Amino acid sequence: MRCKQSVVVSMGKIVIMDNGRKRLSGKCGIKGCDAKLSKIIA
Ligand SMILES: [Zn+2]
Repeated sequence: MRCKQSVVVSMGKIVIMDNGRKRLSGKCGIKGCDAKLSKIIA
C-alpha cells in the first residue's frame, strides 16, 4: 500500500541527487504504518 505524498515523513533524510535536486527519504509518519517514502522537495 502506498502512502500519500502529503503525509509526514518521520526520520527523514535529505539526499541530494546527481541532478542537484533534493529528495527526502524516510518512513511514513502515520502510526502503525511502516512504509518507506521518498519525495522530491526541491
Ligand atoms: Zn503510511
